[in-house]
Amino acid sequence: MKQCSECGTENTDAATVCSQCGKVLDAVGQGPSSIDRVQYQFVDLTPGDQDNDLVTLLTCPTLPEADVVVSHLEAAGIPASLPDEYKMLAAPWDLIKIRNFRVQIPPEHYDSAKEVLLTNVEPANPPETRPGEPGTGM
Ligand SMILES: [Zn+2]
Repeated sequence: MKQCSECGTENTDAATVCSQCGKVLDAVGQGPSSIDRVQYQFVDLTPGDQDNDLVTLLTCPTLPEADVVVSHLEAAGIPASLPDEYKMLAAPWDLIKIRNFRVQIPPEHYDSAKEVLLTNVEPANPPETRPGEPGTGM
């Protein structure tokens, strides 16, 4: 059941608006049905980046996420660094201002790094719509 936050009326799960007052019901309190998936925000290489020692591969909204990315990359033999980590150590009070933690790698590893991360997040068996469950005969 979905309870209307406006008037408290209980509506069916399928309802999108309250039957009593018409308020739009959102799925508060119901766990997301979609699988958790990390959305990597890859940064495209520009031609000039090839000349740099390090390029930004992607950005993460939080430091722990960036850390996970770095450990994935290092496990694959790609030297990755977090330039914004030092920024945080130098001025931790600025942490809330940092919205994008950059993960940097040498440009020659760009393509393989992308591949490593994309392979890591893809689930082995994508839980798509099942073609019908066996054993639930009528
Ligand atoms: Zn209502």
